[in-house]
Amino acid sequence: MDQSTIEPEPSPALTPMMAQFFEIKAVNPGYLLFYRMGDFYELFFEDAEIASAALGIVLTKRGKHLGQDIQMCGVPIHAANDYLNKLVKLGHRVAICEQMEDPKEAKKRGAKSVVRRGVVRLITAGTLTEDEHLNARASNFLAALAMVRHGETDFALAWADVSTGESFTADLSAEQLADELARIDPAELLLTEATRAALVERHLFAPAWAAIAHAAPAESFDSEAASATLRQAFPDGDFDASILSRASRAALGAVLAYVRDSQKGIGVALRAPRGQTTNAYLAIDAATRSSLELHQTQRGQARGSLRDVIDLTVTAPGSRLLAARLAAPLADAAPINERLDAVGLLADDTMLTGRLRAELKAVPDLARALTRLVLERGGPRDLAAIGKAVSAAAALSTHLTGLSDRPAILDRLAGTLAAAPLPLASQLAVALDDELPLLSRDGGFVRKGYDQTLDDERALASQTRDVVAALQARLIEETDVRSLKIRHNGVLGYFVEVPAAHGTRLLEEPHRQSFIHRQTMANAMRFTTSELADLEGRIARAHEAALDIEVRVFASLRYDVLTRTAELRGLADALAELDVTAALAHLAATRRYTRPEVDNSLAFAITDGRHPVVEDMVMAQGQSFVANDADLSGDDAGGGGRLWLVTGPNMGGKSTFLRQNALIAILAQMGSFVPASSAHIGVIDRVFSRVGASDDIAHGRSTFMVEMVETAAILNRATRRSLVVLDEIGRGTATFDGLSIAWAAVEALHETTGCRALFATHFHELTSLAKTLSRVANVTMKVREWQGDVVFLHEVGPGAADRSYGIQVARLAGLPEPVLARARQVLTVLEQRSAGTASSSQKASVLDDLPLFAHQPAPAPAQTDPVLLALDAVRPDEMTPKQAIEALYELKKIRDDARRS
Ligand code: ATP
Repeated sequence: MDQSTIEPEPSPALTPMMAQFFEIKAVNPGYLLFYRMGDFYELFFEDAEIASAALGIVLTKRGKHLGQDIQMCGVPIHAANDYLNKLVKLGHRVAICEQMEDPKEAKKRGAKSVVRRGVVRLITAGTLTEDEHLNARASNFLAALAMVRHGETDFALAWADVSTGESFTADLSAEQLADELARIDPAELLLTEATRAALVERHLFAPAWAAIAHAAPAESFDSEAASATLRQAFPDGDFDASILSRASRAALGAVLAYVRDSQKGIGVALRAPRGQTTNAYLAIDAATRSSLELHQTQRGQARGSLRDVIDLTVTAPGSRLLAARLAAPLADAAPINERLDAVGLLADDTMLTGRLRAELKAVPDLARALTRLVLERGGPRDLAAIGKAVSAAAALSTHLTGLSDRPAILDRLAGTLAAAPLPLASQLAVALDDELPLLSRDGGFVRKGYDQTLDDERALASQTRDVVAALQARLIEETDVRSLKIRHNGVLGYFVEVPAAHGTRLLEEPHRQSFIHRQTMANAMRFTTSELADLEGRIARAHEAALDIEVRVFASLRYDVLTRTAELRGLADALAELDVTAALAHLAATRRYTRPEVDNSLAFAITDGRHPVVEDMVMAQGQSFVANDADLSGDDAGGGGRLWLVTGPNMGGKSTFLRQNALIAILAQMGSFVPASSAHIGVIDRVFSRVGASDDIAHGRSTFMVEMVETAAILNRATRRSLVVLDEIGRGTATFDGLSIAWAAVEALHETTGCRALFATHFHELTSLAKTLSRVANVTMKVREWQGDVVFLHEVGPGAADRSYGIQVARLAGLPEPVLARARQVLTVLEQRSAGTASSSQKASVLDDLPLFAHQPAPAPAQTDPVLLALDAVRPDEMTPKQAIEALYELKKIRDDARRS
């Protein structure tokens, strides 16, 4: 689980520095130690080997330890962030060990003493806060999984995004674990060794978790100790830890302890956790998320996923919220309709939506700026971001308060935005300059006129600059060196510079007394004078005094911001929610999406449904997407939902049709309009989508095994309220086994589960089930055959396909003609056989009698196209430009003649 495990090895040969290294290393097991030495972070021993391999940097040696070379590598401070980023992305954790005193101080304790060092921060994937480490449009969760063996709940998850301060808890049963973790998609997962072992033993530890899991000590999961930690962490009185289950408390305690340790003493203000009851959400398991390509495609790319198509938000926090809603659509009609009301109003008022979106675009990421300030990592730009967001919120609220008949959500948002603390925003606007440095210690960010003493010090500093100019003029006069200049650099400070030719003169009388030599360059000589040194001191003091004041101003502004943390976080939520609502409205208005009717019935009636992603793709190729209806509605009296058996040729559009219906349901339940001309959906509790025959070789499961494990999950877990989409189940085994399993699965879904379901299959035999099972209906993807080719119409109609057109599709894919011819022969025999027109002995002999397959390349078709024939005769090398033009006209003429005939 943890990579580097260097044990301290006290040895008489240990240098004081190595002794210090081992000491620090020992208290941070599992972390790569970035050990500060001057302008570098150095890594030693195994850490160095790991980092040099991961970062592609040179591995060197420094001295010996126990007779062995000490491996070492280092990264320069100024580039450390890039390297840290890379290491964290690769799943490593890093402890940043800084020098805690000036090396000069250490020297005072004796020549051999080492500089005091200490770990100031642990950098781990789940506790990042800096913009350069984070993806602006993605949440970054740290999760902890607790297991409590007594009580009614077995497991609990707590998760927090340190960068925004959000935190959540959920009690879970063992079977909900994988789905919930797939939904949250944490960057890091904490659990004790015992929990991990128990999960592994019960086959509940998903292989994907290994990359993000870290062992945490059992003490940090102690639910009793957690109660005290929670009281301390959330003192506001707006959160009562005793309402949490023991397991939830333990998990949240572990999250808090880990976050606290990672920030080394800097108080992390997380927001009071929001409890999440899993049945408030549409359950989507990991396999379904992946099969429906909600957040990323099956190849792991964001492009081409549902999120990619529907995310029209204009702010990063809006994008994060939209992703969270897509990950967890609701499972209750009332809140879904509230969201739809808000989207509906904005979809109708495109002028208003346009205005809101234009203003939102300029709103900074308030939540993350605030967290950086809380963690003493923020700078002037974070303060400015907060001011800007607050004023934008107030301006946005005026658009909403002007609306009559506001839906509940817009009403709530209008209220929150209107209460934005404008005095804080104006205070920040008055205090902060237009151009701001990243760090407060760089100074120069307080606006002129904000603080009189600061302005005075600055005036002094700039006056002294005038004095420098006057001094330069005087020295020119005195020395008669016209090219004399007073300059400044970081090493020498202020100095007098003259061309080398004049330099020697200043070393002689009468200047020798006043000019003290500092440096000789190739073309110039540098000096100082006592007057200049004095002036330099005055400038530095004025500068320092000014900086001191700026730092104080920063601290006081930060304090004013932090006293409003809770209020500002509420505002950040409202801004993100407004962005999401306006984005979904814009989506609806620009892509012809309509409002779904969502209620508590068992309806599932879609008219002219479209696949949001395939539609985009098809349209980008200049074609049009064929919309299709689906009706799986059941009524309570009728014993459940309907099951459509979808048959049709390969490439006919079955998978697209199946998935589009699942996606429409997900969109509707997240509160979005849907790509259909109408949709009536009775709230779905779980959606399952499976595609047969997908390998999971990496995890040691064969195609067929994966398929069966997933089918089992559906049959065991789907309820009457679920939507099940099964695409070609039973194909990974012998035909009869597969057919039998598919047959039994359809019967079980119909008879026992009674869910709404779509079942695509190439087993045409299954279609006869429609005769015996009342709620099974056959539909097929229509095709037209034309001159031996098959034309896909992508249209769903009643009935069953009698064939799969596999050979025609294979032909389109470019299979060699002899292979196709042979396949046709075999198919004819097999078809006769199943039609019973041949006795079994005849069939065997017919198959035996088929001419042996001979793989000969198909003869090249005779060239008959007159244009191509004429082109063959053209010899460009032998032509003049004029002849070439003539030949071109001739070719066009031949083509036109050919067309006419
Ligand atoms: P197979 O059985 O080989 O998996 P399939 O029947 O599941 O095929 P799909 O993968 O759904 O077929 O569709 C194949 C292609 O047809 C899609 O990539 C898309 O380009 C096009 N297509 C599917 N449905 C439609 C539609 N309704 N309108 C327009 N084009 C469509």
